[in-house]
Amino acid sequence: MSNDTAPTGGAPVGATHGTLGDGGPQLTPAPAGRPAFDDHHPPSAELVSDCVHCGFCLPTCPTYVLWGEEMDSPRGRIYLMQSGLDGEPLSDSMVQHFDACLGCMACVTACPSGVQYDKLIEATRAQVERRHRRAPADRLLRATIFALFPYPRRLRVVRPVLRAYQRTGLQRLVQRSGLLQRFAPSLAAMEALAPPVRAVEALPALVPAHGERRAVVGMLTGCVQGAFFPGVNAATARVLSAEGCDVVVPRNQGCCGALSVHNGREKEAVRFARATIDAFAATGVSYVVVNAAGCGSSMKEYAELLADDPAYASRAADFAATVRDVSEILVELGPIAQRHPMPVVAAYHDACHLAHAQGVRLQPRSLLTGIPGLELREIADPEICCGSAGIYNVLNPEPARELGDRKAANIAATGATLLVTANPGCLIQVAASLDRLGTRVAMAHTVEVLDASIRGLPASSLTTLTRTAAPPHGPAQSLRTPR
Ligand code: SF4
Ligand code: SF4
Repeated sequence: MSNDTAPTGGAPVGATHGTLGDGGPQLTPAPAGRPAFDDHHPPSAELVSDCVHCGFCLPTCPTYVLWGEEMDSPRGRIYLMQSGLDGEPLSDSMVQHFDACLGCMACVTACPSGVQYDKLIEATRAQVERRHRRAPADRLLRATIFALFPYPRRLRVVRPVLRAYQRTGLQRLVQRSGLLQRFAPSLAAMEALAPPVRAVEALPALVPAHGERRAVVGMLTGCVQGAFFPGVNAATARVLSAEGCDVVVPRNQGCCGALSVHNGREKEAVRFARATIDAFAATGVSYVVVNAAGCGSSMKEYAELLADDPAYASRAADFAATVRDVSEILVELGPIAQRHPMPVVAAYHDACHLAHAQGVRLQPRSLLTGIPGLELREIADPEICCGSAGIYNVLNPEPARELGDRKAANIAATGATLLVTANPGCLIQVAASLDRLGTRVAMAHTVEVLDASIRGLPASSLTTLTRTAAPPHGPAQSLRTPR
């Protein structure tokens, strides 16, 4: 990553590189030209001014850890936002530093001054998408991703094609040739990350509570989760049912908009958010349960996303208040379903959008340690992202791979045989990294572990998993859950 980003002629950016607590970069007068930001929700000058340039966030920032460059740190990026607010044009190098941010929000957790970097980068990304013209290849890649990933029906069409590609040996041939890697690294990254396609079990519109009903919840099935990890959705419905929830699965639900909002595609995100609110509105559920960290964090922020929309602003705020990660709702309800012993050594990986964005760290750990026989181990440097970050690992394959490899090494060092996490992106990214490392660590979503314990399945049902985290017992099994 370049370090060429002193956006004005004489800013002594180099003086700040790699140092902590040095007061940050100095601002210089803005030149003439089209300013970086327009008037539609630019990054808030007030929030920018909250940064006191202390540098406490730097060691938790994955891009700063990788490259040691000030402009690839939260403080540096906030400086770039300030210079944009001062009238600086949106240069290619400025965009490059914003694009390199994973949006992991580790800096939000680390910041002692409460800087809301999440709001700042979200506003900045929307400006970049509106006001910066990307290179043709980048535009094409993004257009392809956003024409496919947020559309469950289109993903369903792709599944059999991908399945044939994976099963006929064509994948091996393409990978061995190295051609894709050479001529289209992003496509090669996408191809290498694609999890093996498994059979999908359609969830019924209602999975009734087992025994006395304690809550009526709606369930988001998601795009990537639904297409590539159907076992996670099936396990979520079974566990919620076992814990006394009627689980309503609206047929007309689609993408929640997380991928769009995290990539500055504001109009598209607003459209998806409105549709998601509408899909759940008619169900009368008390909570909307989400098992994908990135989706949950976006849905909890619908009030901000739809604040300008008179028809939806108040509905969005009400809706956001009902959104719960599956681990949150299970801890809130408290366990009633019996947990059977699961003798396994597991490590838990915090998905950034669960830990940093939603502050959900204790609940998954509490659920896992509530399983008799399960030993939970912590992973070194838990605050550092695995490199998944939505579609970051496709758009930025090299740094994502490096971060993934670091995470895989830290996971292997725990000695765990099972890696547990709560986001499809992390499952895909970490699986690829563990494979590269040649480890035999199996993977599962938190609810899959709970599901296996509640159903009295042996630990081998989880530890003999392939990298897909779609357990052999998952999709093909009944949604009925024995106590
Ligand atoms: S969101 Fe993550 S990658 Fe971006 S500046 Fe913050 S810590 Fe760094
Ligand atoms: S974002 Fe927070 S931690 Fe980072 S430099 Fe600014 S005030 Fe310090």
